[in-house]
Amino acid sequence: MRGSVFSPRKPGGAAAALGRAALLVLVLCLAGTTQARADCFPIVDAAYVTLDPLVDKNAAEALNEVAARLSTLYRAGAAGEPRQLAALYAVQADAYSILELDHEARLAAAKGLALVSAPTDPLRLELLSTAALNVYTQDGIREALDTIESARASQPQGSPSGLCLQITLGSLESRAGDNALATRTEAGAYHDSEAPDRAQAHAAAAAELSSALRATGDFQEALTLVREKIRWDAGHGNSLALSVSTFLEGEILAAIREFHAAILIFQRARSISLSLGDRQGIAFADMRVCQSLIELGQYGAARMRCDSAAQVFTATQSTDVLKETQTFLADIDLQQGHAQQALAILNRVLERRGTDMAPSRVAVAYRTRARAYAGVHDYARAYSDLEEYLRRYRAENLARRMRLQETVKERSLVQREVARNAVLQHQLDLTRERATRQSEKLRWIAVANTAGVLVIALLSYILITYLRHRRQLMRLATEDNLTGMPNRGRTVELATAALDSAAAQRRPLTVAILDLDHFKTINDRCGHAAGDHVLQEFARVGRGSLRATDILGRWGGEEFLLVLPDTTLDAALASVERLRVLALAIQVPSSTSEDPVRVTFSAGLATTAEGPRSLDEIIARADAALYEAKHEGRDLVRIDRESYQTASTGVRRALHLR
Ligand code: GH3
Ligand code: MG
Ligand code: MG
Repeated sequence: MRGSVFSPRKPGGAAAALGRAALLVLVLCLAGTTQARADCFPIVDAAYVTLDPLVDKNAAEALNEVAARLSTLYRAGAAGEPRQLAALYAVQADAYSILELDHEARLAAAKGLALVSAPTDPLRLELLSTAALNVYTQDGIREALDTIESARASQPQGSPSGLCLQITLGSLESRAGDNALATRTEAGAYHDSEAPDRAQAHAAAAAELSSALRATGDFQEALTLVREKIRWDAGHGNSLALSVSTFLEGEILAAIREFHAAILIFQRARSISLSLGDRQGIAFADMRVCQSLIELGQYGAARMRCDSAAQVFTATQSTDVLKETQTFLADIDLQQGHAQQALAILNRVLERRGTDMAPSRVAVAYRTRARAYAGVHDYARAYSDLEEYLRRYRAENLARRMRLQETVKERSLVQREVARNAVLQHQLDLTRERATRQSEKLRWIAVANTAGVLVIALLSYILITYLRHRRQLMRLATEDNLTGMPNRGRTVELATAALDSAAAQRRPLTVAILDLDHFKTINDRCGHAAGDHVLQEFARVGRGSLRATDILGRWGGEEFLLVLPDTTLDAALASVERLRVLALAIQVPSSTSEDPVRVTFSAGLATTAEGPRSLDEIIARADAALYEAKHEGRDLVRIDRESYQTASTGVRRALHLR
C-alpha cells in the first residue's frame, strides 16, 4: 500500500493531479511508503505465505515468480484451484501496488476477488484493501472509503483483519485530504496494535501515522514513528520497504533543518536502492542530498548530485521531480553568480505556470525566479514573481496551518481518549482489585467464622468433657462409691460447716456415730455382697428418714456419722429411733426365715447444748458413748457423760428403758 498521499517522494495531494505518465514514473521507486499491505492480514494460504514476503524485498522478482506459478497452474487446468489462484493474484496485486502500477494492481486484485467471496476471509479483505489503495480519482477514493469502512464494520471488534482494514482506511482518509481524520484513525490502529502478536500491523500503523503527522508538520512525532517502521523493515529484511522508510526519515530530518543528519540518512537509503538496482530510488536520494547540500552552502557537491538525479528523472519522464531538481540547480547557479543561466532554467520549469507540479514546489520555483530576475536587474518581474510566490505560499501555508490545527485537535482528542481510557482502565483495575480484596476478605471472614464455630464447638466439647470429668472427679473425691453417701472427708467438711453455723446461731446440734452390730458375722454368713447390700440399704433408708439439713455420711466400714443441726438430744434420740426401726426392716439376702439376720446398730450421741465444741472433740465424746453402747450389749444408744448431765428426764428415761 504505497499509496499514502504522503509518500516521501510524492508531495502532499499532488498525485491525483499529476498525469498518468508522470505518476507511473514517480512510482517506480516509491516502494510502499506505507505497509498496511498484504502481510497485515492473517492469511494462511501457502502460495501467499511463501511469496508475499518477497514483495517487500524485491517486488519485480515476486512478479516473475507469480507469473511462473500462474502459467503452471493454468497449464494444469487451474479451474479447480480457485484459492491458490486468488492467493497468487493477491501477491501480484501487492507487488504492482508497491511498484505504484495502480492499474495493474487493481486488475490483479479484481481477478482475485472474483475467486474468494467469504466476507471475513482475510485473503478477500487483503485483495479489497489492495484494490482500494490503488485508486486515485476523487470518486474512486470515496467509493474505496465506503468499501473499506463497511468491510471493517463487519469484522469483529479488535480482530486482526479489522485492524488492518483500519490502517487502510486511515491511508484513504489521508488521500482524501482529511489528515485530521486520518491521524485519528491511524492513531487508533497504532494503539490497538500494541499487543506483541500484532507487531506487523503496529509497524504498518506507525508508518501511516508518521505520514499523516508529517503532512501536518508534526515532525518529531513523525520521526519517532518512522524509526519504528525502519526497525521493523530492517529486522525483517524488507529491503525495498526499508529504502523507502529510511528515505522518509531523511525527509523529516531535512524538514526540521537537520541537514547533516539528513544527508547521512539519504545516503543510507541510496545505498539500499543501489543494492536493489533501483535507479529511481537512487535519483530521489541524490536530489534530496543535493537540496541539503545547498542549505549547507556546498554548491559544487550539490550540483553533482542534482545533475545525476536530473538525468534519471529525464529518462523516466518524472516531470514533477525533474522540475524540482531543476529548481535546485537554478538555485545553485544563482548562488554561484550565474543569474542568467538560472533564469533560463526557471523559465522552462514554470512554462506551464506550475500546473504540472506539486503546489509547494511551484511556490519555491517562483521565489527562486524572483531572485533570478533581481540578479539580472529586472525588478518589475522580480516583484511580480515574489507576489506570486507569496500568494501561493500563503495559500499553501494557510491550508497547512488549518490541517495542522485540525490534526493537533484530533491528536489531543486521541490522546485525551487514550488518557481517558487509561483512567477508566485504572479505575476498572482498582474496582476489580477492591472487589478481589473484598471477596478475599469475605472468604477469610467465612473461613474465620467456620474456624471460630469449630473452635467454639471444640472448646465447648472440651469444657463439657472437662466439667463432666470434674464432676466425676468431684464425686469420686467427695462421694462414697458403694452407698453414694458423703465420704469421710466430705462428711467432715459438712459437719464442720454445720457445727460453725450452729455455734454462730447459738443453736443446739447433736452428733451420733452409728456402728452396725456384728457386721462381720453378716458378711461371714451371707457373703460380702449381702454385706454391701445392707450398707446400701441402710444409706438409702437413712437418707429417706432424715431432714434435708441433716447430714449422714459414711465414717468408715460399717460406721456412719449423723449430724443433726438445730436438734436437741430428745429430738436426736427420736431420729435415731426412727433409723433403728428402718434398719430392722432391711432384708438381708441369703438369710433364711428359720435363722433370720437382723440389722441393728449401736449409737453414741453427743450434743453441743453445753456450748460450742470442736468437731474432733464432739466426735471423740460420741465415740466414747458408742463404745459404752457396744460394751453394754449392742443395739443400744448411749449419750456421752457431759451431754447426759444436761439431758431431759424424758431422755434419761428413754435411755434407761433400753
Ligand atoms: P461389732 O458389733 O463389734 O461392731 O462387730 P463387727 O463385726 O460389726 O465389727 P468388726 O470391726 O469386727 O468388723 C467389721 C466388719 O465390717 C469387718 C469388715 O469386713 C466389714 N466391712 C467393712 N466395710 C465393709 C464393706 O464395705 N462391705 C462389707 N460387705 N463388709 C465390710
Ligand atoms: Mg465397726
Ligand atoms: Mg460393727
